[in-house]
Amino acid sequence: MRRTKPWRAGALKLAHKKIVALGRKWEKRLGLAQWTVSYYVYGGSMAGGAAETRWHDNYQDAGIAIDQKWLDFDTTTDEDIEINLVHELCHLLFAPMDDEMASMFGLESTVYGMYAAKREGMCDVIAKLIVDRYKRKRD
Ligand SMILES: [Zn+2]
Repeated sequence: MRRTKPWRAGALKLAHKKIVALGRKWEKRLGLAQWTVSYYVYGGSMAGGAAETRWHDNYQDAGIAIDQKWLDFDTTTDEDIEINLVHELCHLLFAPMDDEMASMFGLESTVYGMYAAKREGMCDVIAKLIVDRYKRKRD
């Protein structure tokens, strides 16, 4: 993971600073106070889709990279970005289980692959649910 330039000025979507602020807000809501999360807007090509989360095995330090190209798509809305960010933060909730599964079965195993696919789905459902819930609370 490498640090890239923040969002270009004048972009309609959330700028890097706002992504960080949004991340901090959701870290609190998700009970991730023990984590120090760094946010990156990644300009290279990302293997795993729109965003990626990595963590240190102390379960205190993490980095979330969001794909610049995905951010720049005309179809990517601020709400998509928020849901995506919450999805990535949900990965931190699952981090110890991920590591346990990886050490038991191996990252390349079928079992881990099945687990990872289910976890992705769970992070999607949780992220959409809680972003929607908080949005309705604000309205
Ligand atoms: Zn994910």
